[in-house]
Amino acid sequence: MLGRMADKKKNPDDPPKGIGTRLVAAGRRPEWTGPVVNPPVWRASTHLYEDMASHRDGPRHNEDGRFFYGRRGAPTQWALAEALTQIEPGAAGTVLYPSGVAAIAGALLTVLRPGDVLLMTDNAYDPSRTMGLGLMRDFGIETRFFDPRDVSAFEALCCERTKAVLLECPGSLTMELCDVPALARAARKRGIVSILDNTWASALGFTALTRGVDIVVSSLTKHVGGHSDAMMGAASAGSKFYATLRKRAQNLGQVVSPDDAALVLRGLRTLQVRLERETSSALEISAWLSQRPEIAQVMCPMLPGSPGHQIWARDFTGGCGLFSFLFKGGTALSRDSFIDALELFGIGYSWGGFESLVVPVDPVPYRSVMAWPPKGVTRKDRFGVRLSIGLEDPADLIADIERALVKMAAN
Ligand SMILES: *Cc1c(COP(=O)(O)O)cnc(C)c1O
Repeated sequence: MLGRMADKKKNPDDPPKGIGTRLVAAGRRPEWTGPVVNPPVWRASTHLYEDMASHRDGPRHNEDGRFFYGRRGAPTQWALAEALTQIEPGAAGTVLYPSGVAAIAGALLTVLRPGDVLLMTDNAYDPSRTMGLGLMRDFGIETRFFDPRDVSAFEALCCERTKAVLLECPGSLTMELCDVPALARAARKRGIVSILDNTWASALGFTALTRGVDIVVSSLTKHVGGHSDAMMGAASAGSKFYATLRKRAQNLGQVVSPDDAALVLRGLRTLQVRLERETSSALEISAWLSQRPEIAQVMCPMLPGSPGHQIWARDFTGGCGLFSFLFKGGTALSRDSFIDALELFGIGYSWGGFESLVVPVDPVPYRSVMAWPPKGVTRKDRFGVRLSIGLEDPADLIADIERALVKMAAN
């Protein structure tokens, strides 16, 4: 039985296995797992060499699966990186980072040099913006923002010095979608490297590297970890960028702990069932919200009629539990009273865990070119919240939201 699945000779004519099957088998090389199902947690800084011949030979090989020194990982980290590569079509390899933000920094520092210009979607995750306006600027790299829904605005901004574009789709606070294939095509035509923060959809919902994106980054802290107990990030790329991405990560001393890698690998096994459940619950809850008189707009890409839904239906194969909505009228205070009245939603950052979360939506400080409130929403309807729907029963979550809406109206 030992590693039977992985050992079996692969017939090149076999049809590719479904994503559920791949999620179960991914990264489980028999030489890493031994006789058990999961790779053990290899806590290791020093790797010992058998003799001086192997010590001399060691540094020549810089690849996962070769023992060298703890900073290059050991089987627990290798298994996770390989598993992520196996579920990311078009990837030659995956680099792990201690957080999603570190993965974004790792990708940007791989492809940008002093004097370059970085373009970024204006609805990008706030720490990505801060990185552009702080870290990148300090290294002589200029960041310019564009409306992600406007491909021609992007093309107009491209100049000789533009060397990379950072996309996020949908924007993880206000949920606008962009036409990733069109933007990636426009970038590639000009020799601009496209990087997509694909944390929202994951490889299950959007196969970025097959749609023209050069480097796909993700916060594994969210869906893949899935249990709000570990932080990690990843960047995957085809052969053109993987080697330099990996080398730069090693230059920067990036390494993840084997304990965290084991937790994230455990989360990966159930990623598909969790995403399916969260997506169906989010759809049910967002459809219910869209019928409520207290709600001005629901921003849930999976919901027909929601902004960006057409792009989502065209490009995505799945969704998740993260969406936002705006109240009809009210104030920041009434919005806060709604949040305080919720009993099943924790107030906190992050998302994609098994438990539901809520945060206020206040994008104004984090925008340069996009108007807020969005088109079709009046100024008085600008207050909203973002929900991360977990694995609770959707009927209970709806009852909780309804109770909070009633309480907010009574205040
Ligand atoms: C949370 C998040 C990140 C950063 O991930 P961390 O693991 O928290 O550093 C990056 N991008 C998006 C879209 C996120 O939501």
